[in-house]
Amino acid sequence: MEASIDLHIHSALSPCSDDDMTPNNIVNMALLNGLHAIAVTDHNSCDNVEAVTKAAGGRLVVVPGMEIQTREEVHLLAYFKDLPSLYAFNAQMEQFYDGIRNNSCLFGHQWIMDERDEIIGEKQQSLLTSLSISFDDTIELIRKHGGLPVPAHINKPSYSVLSQLGFLPPDLGLTLLEFSQNSPFDCQDYPNHRFLISSDAHNLSQILDGKMTIPVEEYTLSGIFKYLSDCFV
Ligand SMILES: [Zn+2]
Ligand SMILES: [Zn+2]
Repeated sequence: MEASIDLHIHSALSPCSDDDMTPNNIVNMALLNGLHAIAVTDHNSCDNVEAVTKAAGGRLVVVPGMEIQTREEVHLLAYFKDLPSLYAFNAQMEQFYDGIRNNSCLFGHQWIMDERDEIIGEKQQSLLTSLSISFDDTIELIRKHGGLPVPAHINKPSYSVLSQLGFLPPDLGLTLLEFSQNSPFDCQDYPNHRFLISSDAHNLSQILDGKMTIPVEEYTLSGIFKYLSDCFV
């Protein structure tokens, strides 16, 4: 079976995304676009993942994840096999916040929502700054919690591992990479790697509609996660 996926979507928790990126709007747009699985990967936080999962109500898979900005200003995606693993990882990451508060007038709101799209809080720590943890150490921490590290939008000219470090470190076992749909890319440049194409959607119209499919044995979280895990060989 083929699963249509988009594993890089920002909710209204990310200050740079639209305020109507609510749990139900994201789920309903994903369903309209025929997706079987999504991941809500907000910057340095995961407070809306559970609400999106509940809003989905089993109609599509929500892979627990987040997008970390490391000390080197590299964006790194992390996917986990269940919510407790994501929360355990997130609890470790919060010690690396820099303490700078978000200015919502300048940068946008950081809404925390429930599964009915009700605002239940606003994240105070700015989510647009780098965490004080290195790229290598973040990868180690992701793996310690059973997660999968995927360098984000490596074809973008900013905040990617290539733009910030200048190369893909060969000794970290990063065999799964992400291309943004918004920039040109050529898979031939990486013959020994597997790829995800994702939207990095910050508004509803950007969510993918069939551009990325993967083979799965079942349309479940474990089925999606198994495919992703198998890319790390
Ligand atoms: Zn990014
Ligand atoms: Zn992103």
